[in-house]
Amino acid sequence: MALPAHLVLQIVTPDRLIVKEQVDEVEIPGSQGYFGVLPGHTPMLASLAVGELWYRKGQDKFYLSIAFGFAEVLPDRVTILARLAERAEDIDIGRAEEAKKRAEERLSQPKSDMDYERARIALTKSLMRLQVSARTPGGMRVGELKRMRDNVRG
Ligand code: ATP
Repeated sequence: MALPAHLVLQIVTPDRLIVKEQVDEVEIPGSQGYFGVLPGHTPMLASLAVGELWYRKGQDKFYLSIAFGFAEVLPDRVTILARLAERAEDIDIGRAEEAKKRAEERLSQPKSDMDYERARIALTKSLMRLQVSARTPGGMRVGELKRMRDNVRG
């Protein structure tokens, strides 16, 4: 059987349809690691981590931050059902920076009743949003992100 020429990519959150496009390639943040999908990929189901998803149309790449949910891969389509998904250009950098600051403060002054895992996820989401927003032409520079990460690692 001939390979399909393209993939139909759909990215859906509980609130709305974020992407429905014909694309040439997708890279997905699976909970077991990032994986790439080209037309003709073997069918598979994967759970999603907090991370960056990109898709390519011709020479152009488009970036989104996504978190939690599932990806269904078929030879001619990829469906992402994610709890959270934002296109790079829709990310509010100030909000992500505030979320990062709050999470860092919580993690650096642990209290006995603190939900450590929740604070860790908030920090991961904010770093991921800042990384993805830097993919837009007006976004933050990559060096800035590296500096922030180094600070987090201490
Ligand atoms: P915050 O602490 O900044 O409010 P949160 O962790 O409470 O973030 P989420 O549960 O991650 O928020 O997301 C709630 C909704 O807000 C989702 O629809 C998500 O896409 C959107 N959202 C959260 N942060 C941003 C951001 N920095 N830019 C754009 N949309 C965002």
